[in-house]
Amino acid sequence: MKLGGESVKDCLFCKIADGDIPSEIIYEDVKVVAFKDVDPQAPVHVLVIPKDHIESVDDITSENSYLIAHIFEVINKLAKDLELDKGYRVVNNCKGHGGQTVNHIHFHLLGGRQLQWPPG
Ligand code: AMP
Ligand code: ZN
Repeated sequence: MKLGGESVKDCLFCKIADGDIPSEIIYEDVKVVAFKDVDPQAPVHVLVIPKDHIESVDDITSENSYLIAHIFEVINKLAKDLELDKGYRVVNNCKGHGGQTVNHIHFHLLGGRQLQWPPG
């Protein structure tokens, strides 16, 4: 179920949110879905997305920012459920120079090992 936003044709993550493409969903509510990244970069690598299509951080507005706030509440809960008590990283890649490859906003939750800094 969506909150009003339309699914975007040919958007991979809209299709995952709609259940049209299978994924390993670990959490779902009316606003968001969290599923395992298909190419994990750490023992825990989960993607958290709004069900409504927002392209990137560049497209966050005062109308849709409550979804982003909710995503961070969900990340906090998932980190506890996944026992990431030693720490974790939340990553967002925005547009081309940021390395975004799927144009439906998503937050990577990475953990379960010591992560390095800085990124490339
Ligand atoms: P980004 O590069 O920040 O846009 O991240 C996109 C992420 O989506 C990458 O980490 C991919 O491994 C992941 N990904 C791509 N297709 C799928 C899929 N069908 N199911 C789960 N994760 C996916
Ligand atoms: Zn989408």
